[in-house]
Amino acid sequence: MAEIRVENLHKTFGDYVAVRDSNFTVADGEFFVMLGPSGCGKTTTLRMIAGLELPTSGSIRLGGEDVPFNRAAARDIAFVFQLFALYPHMNVRRNIGFPLKCQNMPAAEIRTRVEETARFLRIDHLLDQPVSRLAGGDRQRVALGRAIVRRPMAFLMDEPLGTLDTEFRDLMVRELRELHLRIRATTVYVTHDQLEAMAMADKIAVMSRGVIEQFGPPQEIYDRPATMFVADFIGSPPMNFLDFRGSLEPGQAAVQVNGATVAVPAAREARREADLVLGARPEHVRFDDASKLRGTVFGTEYLGTTQIVTVSTAHGQVKARLPADVRAVAGETVGLSFRGERLSLFDKASGRAIRTALTDGAHPPSRSGGGGPPQAVEGASLGGAPGVGSNPAAGGAHG
Ligand code: ATP
Repeated sequence: MAEIRVENLHKTFGDYVAVRDSNFTVADGEFFVMLGPSGCGKTTTLRMIAGLELPTSGSIRLGGEDVPFNRAAARDIAFVFQLFALYPHMNVRRNIGFPLKCQNMPAAEIRTRVEETARFLRIDHLLDQPVSRLAGGDRQRVALGRAIVRRPMAFLMDEPLGTLDTEFRDLMVRELRELHLRIRATTVYVTHDQLEAMAMADKIAVMSRGVIEQFGPPQEIYDRPATMFVADFIGSPPMNFLDFRGSLEPGQAAVQVNGATVAVPAAREARREADLVLGARPEHVRFDDASKLRGTVFGTEYLGTTQIVTVSTAHGQVKARLPADVRAVAGETVGLSFRGERLSLFDKASGRAIRTALTDGAHPPSRSGGGGPPQAVEGASLGGAPGVGSNPAAGGAHG
C-alpha cells in the first residue's frame, strides 16, 4: 500500500513561505501531478516527500507511516530527475542493473530482475547492446527500466522530460502513461507543462505561490476551474475573461454583459453588486449575428480542422476556437455568443469561482469513453497542441 497523505504541510525559508498548508492525498497506484509556474513550491513539496528537505510543520504519511523525519534512503521511493540520462560506457544490462548493484544485491538476483524488467519493456533483445547504438525510443525504455527495476513503493519525478525535444517528450509521455497503467505504482510528478499534466495525470494539484489552488482530475480542473489563476494557467489558448459589473441571486441563469444578455449556469449563491468576471473557454465561443456582444476580427490562426479567431471587443481580446471553414476576415465586425451551460463566473476581487450549477457538479454534457484523462486534441503533439481537453469526445471517467 503506497498511499501518500500530506497534511498541513508548511515550509519556510527564513521569512519566505515556499509551501503554505498543503493538503492532498495520492491514492495507492495513482499518477499525481503537481503543476504550476516556476517558483510555486512544487519541487520543495516533492523534496519533502522524498526526505531531502525537512518540513517546517505538517505531516507526510507514506503507506500509512509518518515519515517527515525518516532519512531519504529509508523511504522506499525512487526519485527520478531526468529519465533519459544513461551511462554511455555501459551496455543496456548494466545500465538497468546499476541501481541494484548500488544496493549490493547479489549478481544472480540482479540478472533475474534486469531480464524481467527488460522483457516487460520489450527490450530484452537489446540487453547486451551498448546504449550508444540504440534508437531514441529504446534509450528511453532503458532509462525507464533503470527507474522501475528497484520496484519502489512510489516514484517521485521532478520535470523528468524537461530538456527533451518535442518529439521525444511526446513519446515519453505516452510511454510513461502506458507504463503506469501496467505497473500502477504511486507516482508524484512535477511539471510546469500543462499538456504533460493533462495527458498523464489521474489527479492534478495546480499550485501558485506556495498554495494549492485546485486539486482534482484533469477534466474537472479544465471544466470547472476553482480560480481565475487555474482557468488561465490550464488550456491553450487559456480561458477568456470578460469583466462586468453585476449582482447575482441564487437560481439566476443569465447576466448582463455590456448590454447583452448572456445565459450562464444557474447561480447557487447571491452576490451584491460587484465586479464580476465571465469565463469562457475558446471552444465555447461562437459567431452569432444576432448577438449584441460585438467585436472586430483581429486575426486567425489556422490549425487544420479548427482555427483560433481573435476578436477585439470592449472587454479586450476574445479568442474563439471555430471550425476551420467558418469565414473570419480581419477587420470585419462579428457578434459573439457562448455555450451558456459551460461558462464560469468569478469574483474579480478574490479571483475565486462563484458557485453555480456547473461548479456544483451538474456535469457538462458527458464525454464518451473510458478511464483515461482527457487527451490533447486533434492528434496534436504535446509541443504544438492547439488545446487541452477541448475535445468533447475525449475520454474521462470523472467528468
Ligand atoms: P521550479 O520549477 O523553478 O523549480 P518550483 O515550483 O519547483 O519551481 P521550488 O523550487 O519549490 O519551486 O521553490 C519555491 C520557492 O522557494 C522559490 O521561490 C525558491 O526560490 C524558494 N526556495 C527553494 N529552495 C530554497 C532554499 N533552499 N533556500 C531559500 N529559498 C528556497
